[in-house]
Amino acid sequence: MLDVLVIGGGNAALCAALMAREAGASVMLLEASPRDWRGGNSQHTRNLRCMHDAPQDVLVDAYPEEEFWQDLLKVTGGATDEALARLVIRASSTCRPWMVRHGVRFQPSLSGALHTARTNAFFMGGGKALVNAYYRSAERLGVAIRYQAPVERIELQDGRFVAAFVGDERIEARACVLASGGFESNREWLREAWGVNERGEHPADNFLIRGTRFNTGVLLKHLLDAGADRIGDPTQAHMVAIDARAPLYDGGICTRIDCVSLGVVVNRDAERFYDEGEDFWPKRYAIWGRLVAQQPGQQAWSIIDAKAVGRFMPPVFPGTQADTLPGLARALGLDETRFMQTLQAYNAACREGRFDHTVLDDCTTAALVPAKTHWARPIDTPPFYGYALRPGVTFTYLGLKTNERAAVHFDGRPSPNLFVAGEMMAGNVLGRGYTAGVGMSIGTAFGRIAGTEAARAAGKEEQRAAA
Ligand SMILES: Cc1cc2nc3c(=O)[nH]c(=O)nc-3n(C[C@H](O)[C@H](O)[C@H](O)COP(=O)(O)OP(=O)(O)OC[C@H]3O[C@@H](n4cnc5c(N)ncnc54)[C@H](O)[C@@H]3O)c2cc1C
Repeated sequence: MLDVLVIGGGNAALCAALMAREAGASVMLLEASPRDWRGGNSQHTRNLRCMHDAPQDVLVDAYPEEEFWQDLLKVTGGATDEALARLVIRASSTCRPWMVRHGVRFQPSLSGALHTARTNAFFMGGGKALVNAYYRSAERLGVAIRYQAPVERIELQDGRFVAAFVGDERIEARACVLASGGFESNREWLREAWGVNERGEHPADNFLIRGTRFNTGVLLKHLLDAGADRIGDPTQAHMVAIDARAPLYDGGICTRIDCVSLGVVVNRDAERFYDEGEDFWPKRYAIWGRLVAQQPGQQAWSIIDAKAVGRFMPPVFPGTQADTLPGLARALGLDETRFMQTLQAYNAACREGRFDHTVLDDCTTAALVPAKTHWARPIDTPPFYGYALRPGVTFTYLGLKTNERAAVHFDGRPSPNLFVAGEMMAGNVLGRGYTAGVGMSIGTAFGRIAGTEAARAAGKEEQRAAA
């Protein structure tokens, strides 16, 4: 019988498959997508957040455990399990040599990727190259890989994994790792979770999905229905404000609009609704999807002037350009009078300071609601630009409750041979908010743990030690 069955084909699944195989287990990996689309959301990534106490190859300065933990605590507002979070943080300081052994290469932070040279190690060639390297390594080590193999359900006996079903095919294994992502591509489930707002709108109908169309949450639902313990809230997700012209799926990184902190953001009523300069962009970009989701029509517009150009990663589609602010309002289809009131009030409220986008500077507004607390400069230098924004869901946080061994739990009891990694359990560490790069830190840490534990549950490590 097969030792370890890994369900999913992204970073967490591949880390699990490689670790289980390295421990001597026979491993099969089932990926729902065709080969060309393999790698789930992981193929769209660029970096992982890493703890380090001193400079390391591509990482400058230090990013100690405590600072990483405080960053996580701040963004989650306490919706995190400290023991599991610290486990991820510590693992992030030691996993990279293993990744390099499996073909992943790193490069320094890209120019234009704000404030990340210290905290985030970038993958050379992005997530696509990482995923390809892991698949190559898995094939070389003898992991059996099957594409277009979506698992619809699994067979359990008293919390113990017995078999998985791909259509009518029943695949038995001694242990199993679930790493099939969140439910962000299941539009019906998103609609149900977000419900109807006070304006009678179904907000989720206007969401775009930044990543793979294959993360439909079929197994997550199945496990929850089968009594697995849950973690997180179905409406919580990593949601970015992305270009409203992005495709429904797989728009990826290039549809992100990164100029929010350099200007102002207005809604359909041409009103500002949140502090655009609250914190560094990598710590804030993931709240903006949710903020836009709460606006009428789930749409907003990021407005900048010529001073901002060159200070942010240019988006793939050009912005709407105008030589005057009233002209920009007209071009964007916003109420001109209201737009000018908003912009004039903002411009008048900007206090003189020393503008520095690399620190939390002292350019702030006075007596304005909502305030802009950093990088507030008048929008007064033509040409002016506007980017239409929509909520872009990256991944959902509802998942399966787990422990430091990555075990799936049923009524508080850990399964002896069913493990979980990646987005499917990220909510244990990340109940809310986001800080850039932590998704891959969680998936790598728990993928590796889940693979090791699954091999052990299949009796492999002991056999190896005895040999
Ligand atoms: C555009 C974008 C950019 C991102 N950038 C970053 C970044 O730079 N750094 C970072 O840390 N995080 C980033 N993330 C988040 C990151 O992608 C996730 O945290 C991480 O990839 C999760 O890995 P995973 O293996 O759990 O999920 P995925 O990589 O999504 O893998 C899930 C896999 O399961 C498969 N699957 C789904 N259902 C089934 C089924 N029923 N049967 C079999 N297979 C199934 C899917 O096809 C897919 O291969 C980004 C996400 C997106 C969308």
